[in-house]
Amino acid sequence: MATMTDHGDASMPEYLYRHASSMEHYTADIFVVWCFDDRFREAQMGFLTHVNIGHRDPESPAGGGKIFFDPEKESDREYYCRELEKSIALHHAKEVWLFTHHDCGACGGFGRFGNSRDEELLHHINGGKIAREFIQKRFSAIEKVRTFFVDERGVIETTHMSEASGDQIHEQV
Ligand SMILES: [Zn+2]
Repeated sequence: MATMTDHGDASMPEYLYRHASSMEHYTADIFVVWCFDDRFREAQMGFLTHVNIGHRDPESPAGGGKIFFDPEKESDREYYCRELEKSIALHHAKEVWLFTHHDCGACGGFGRFGNSRDEELLHHINGGKIAREFIQKRFSAIEKVRTFFVDERGVIETTHMSEASGDQIHEQV
């Protein structure tokens, strides 16, 4: 009979950390995709709290929402489509929120845009439009797709921005 004196046994495992998790089933307010870049974690999490999002099904591929408009491989996008399918099936997600951000390494960094804020934002506005249309066309259960851009000052919604409006944004901020 195996003994596990150093690490406890299966009937009495030793917890490294104790936390009471609710086992109640939930409905996901949103399926959210953002980049794993930790610099924007607090801004993004703070924003979700600010707008009262409760349960979320989160995904964090490099580039965040880029996975739906400019995937490195088509199979990458397919993987996240399957994740969204599961979120819809298991947690009845009806909204998708896609985040991209300033100086994203997965998008080539700020240098790719010649260090132009306007060029960078335009890229994300255009990409967001492609991503929204892709998801809306493919998932009839999804009622709304919203896109957001995050920089060191906070969160901008790009859902209703046209390509032409990009250069007006930073004048307003
Ligand atoms: Zn990134």
